[in-house]
Amino acid sequence: MAELTQVKKYLAYWFQLGQKIIIPRTNKSLIPKKVLNDSGYSSELEKLWALVTNDCNRQYCYLEGTNESIGELLSPEWDIIDCARCNMPMPIVELGIQSASCVCDDLDNWPNNELPNPRSSVNNTERLMIIRKSLLNKQKNNS
Ligand SMILES: [Zn+2]
Repeated sequence: MAELTQVKKYLAYWFQLGQKIIIPRTNKSLIPKKVLNDSGYSSELEKLWALVTNDCNRQYCYLEGTNESIGELLSPEWDIIDCARCNMPMPIVELGIQSASCVCDDLDNWPNNELPNPRSSVNNTERLMIIRKSLLNKQKNNS
């Protein structure tokens, strides 16, 4: 079973690469402008986390590029591991035969060895903005 802190980290990492969280009930996709601050997660991320883990939303909200809801990830069948391909957190079924997939299946421009990886440590917000910008530019150039 994935713990709350693992699922939160999973979201925080992918937010740093520009993936949004989808909230079907209100037809919204959200991403915090700022993921980290000097002492850890930003208040904006904390607010969004509270929203997507409340009883109304947790069964429906999911990260863009994935099919598993936050509620599912917090159920006993699921766990969060590091993706073998890109080292980012990805959900995996602990029991059963469903094949796991990482968000990077969905991204043409990730993993990218030229860019530093997102981290959960502090004081790297600026660096991550640079990563995000360059990913967005690449996406633009590809399309
Ligand atoms: Zn991956």
